[in-house]
Amino acid sequence: MEFIDLKRQYSDIKEKINSGINDVLEHGRYIMGPEVDTLEKNLSDFTGSKHVISCSSGTDALLMSLMSLDVKRGDYIITTPFTYIATAEVISLLGAIPKFIDIDPRTFNIDMHQLEDELKKEPDKYKFIMPVNIFGLPANYPDLFVLKEKYKLLIIEDAAQSFGASIEGRMSCNFGDIGCTSFFPAKPLGCYGDGGAIFTDDDEIAEVLKSIRVHGTGTDKYDNIRIGINGRLDTIQAAILIPKLEILSREIESRNNVAKKYNERLNKNFGIQKNPSGYVSSWAQYSILCNSFEHRETIMKKLANNSIPNAIYYRIPLHLQKVYQKLNYKEGDFQISEDISSRILSLPMHPYLSQKEIKNICDVILGE
Ligand SMILES: *Cc1c(COP(=O)(O)O)cnc(C)c1O
Repeated sequence: MEFIDLKRQYSDIKEKINSGINDVLEHGRYIMGPEVDTLEKNLSDFTGSKHVISCSSGTDALLMSLMSLDVKRGDYIITTPFTYIATAEVISLLGAIPKFIDIDPRTFNIDMHQLEDELKKEPDKYKFIMPVNIFGLPANYPDLFVLKEKYKLLIIEDAAQSFGASIEGRMSCNFGDIGCTSFFPAKPLGCYGDGGAIFTDDDEIAEVLKSIRVHGTGTDKYDNIRIGINGRLDTIQAAILIPKLEILSREIESRNNVAKKYNERLNKNFGIQKNPSGYVSSWAQYSILCNSFEHRETIMKKLANNSIPNAIYYRIPLHLQKVYQKLNYKEGDFQISEDISSRILSLPMHPYLSQKEIKNICDVILGE
């Protein structure tokens, strides 16, 4: 059994993927070839976002987004400590400062009450917020939109885990002023290497992002008007993503069925991530909350004895990571994130997990 089985999906759409890769090998336009345009157009249709700028990774999507908004040294950017390091890392790379707000214990996403308390306290300090749609579940955007208006905030949506998720039919990547996703192989829509994309309805931001993607070029390739990066998506990766995007809606449905089956068996004995009504998660991870650190150790032992893969996202919240010692946070500062980090456990999750496999995993977990 695999934690995320990418081979079953490949065997289903092998011919399309192989012929897509082959087309690129034949035409030879490895950088910014025609498949990149097609993919961007298809991603725009899928999400409803006016502009899509494909790029080299989810991390670069976030970095380029902050660059396009002219985030500067000393700016504060609000996010949560219960996320992957990349979220905060790009903030620090630009000399800006991550301001952590704790998470809601039910959704594991940013806690709206603590967020509003902080904004009330120092309304002029914050211009940017980077909500993370953790494990594929969108953050509370209906409430975030209210705070955005009230406190004049720009939202950069970290949708690295939530491509294909939605709230009341509105697609993830389309909630922020800018949305960022990742096509790392294990994400809900993954390529066969690194990749990402940026989404915006703002014409001006889209132009700036296209320039940043190619070393800050102006109208001519050798005319440089700003600092940029090499942030392009390879044509081969675009060719791989095109057929994968075609089956994504079906896969999101399957992931939701898997999650439902897990919930039915496990929700009496474990905490589970609560999906508010109207929210559809893309289930990048399916996670359970054990009763304690020791309980988690016991469950992990049972799973290991039965060769069932599992993982801990995230073992150490970002405010307690060594790299952020300089921010002077301490243990106890974000109690929900710390508590959840000590008890959370992610189980195998992918669209091709069979009923039998789910039953087997749950039997092992619930067995003596
Ligand atoms: C994976 C991930 C990223 C980074 O994406 P890469 O494509 O690996 O660079 C950023 N934020 C979150 C929440 C992620 O899960």
